[in-house]
Amino acid sequence: MAQIDEDDIILVQRGPSPTVAGGFYRSFVETARGLKTTLFKVFGETQTIQYPEEKTPVYPRFRGRHKLHTFEDTGLEKCVGCSLCAAACPADCIRVVAAENDPNNRVSAGERYAAVYEINMSRCIFCGYCEVACPFDAITMGHDYELSDLNRSDLIFTKEMLLAEPIERTPLRTEDE
Ligand code: SF4
Ligand code: SF4
Repeated sequence: MAQIDEDDIILVQRGPSPTVAGGFYRSFVETARGLKTTLFKVFGETQTIQYPEEKTPVYPRFRGRHKLHTFEDTGLEKCVGCSLCAAACPADCIRVVAAENDPNNRVSAGERYAAVYEINMSRCIFCGYCEVACPFDAITMGHDYELSDLNRSDLIFTKEMLLAEPIERTPLRTEDE
């Protein structure tokens, strides 16, 4: 009579191979995920956006139009005209002319302020180096991307333009959208 060892008993007790069952399960899950992605692309991402009435939302980290900031409590400009942003700009499109603050009529919180602050948007590559270089968070990049114009000189954004709130805000999309 043939001998039955311990390994044979374990094989009989396990039934169908767990490797085969696991493979079927993984295939089913991957197929379901692929179908979900395809349906999302067809019915979700490729829908028509009625631009310009409806704007394409951007991700929160999108780098668009710049914004110069003031302090909320005092209203003083955060920019002190140090030109670090201009030095960091690889496109050489920022022009800063600093001036001394008048103690009786302060413009910024520092000793100096930016008498002139301009960004030539036709040269900007939206790299974000300027906002990283600024030690006072005086300049940040917003989400607005509608910057085209018919005249190149209109693409030189002045300090007043950069301090002003954008007329219309670009909608944001969530990270999982
Ligand atoms: S985003 Fe880059 S290219 Fe544009 S102004 Fe800032 S540093 Fe210059
Ligand atoms: S925006 Fe910032 S880095 Fe640029 S001049 Fe003003 S304070 Fe300096």
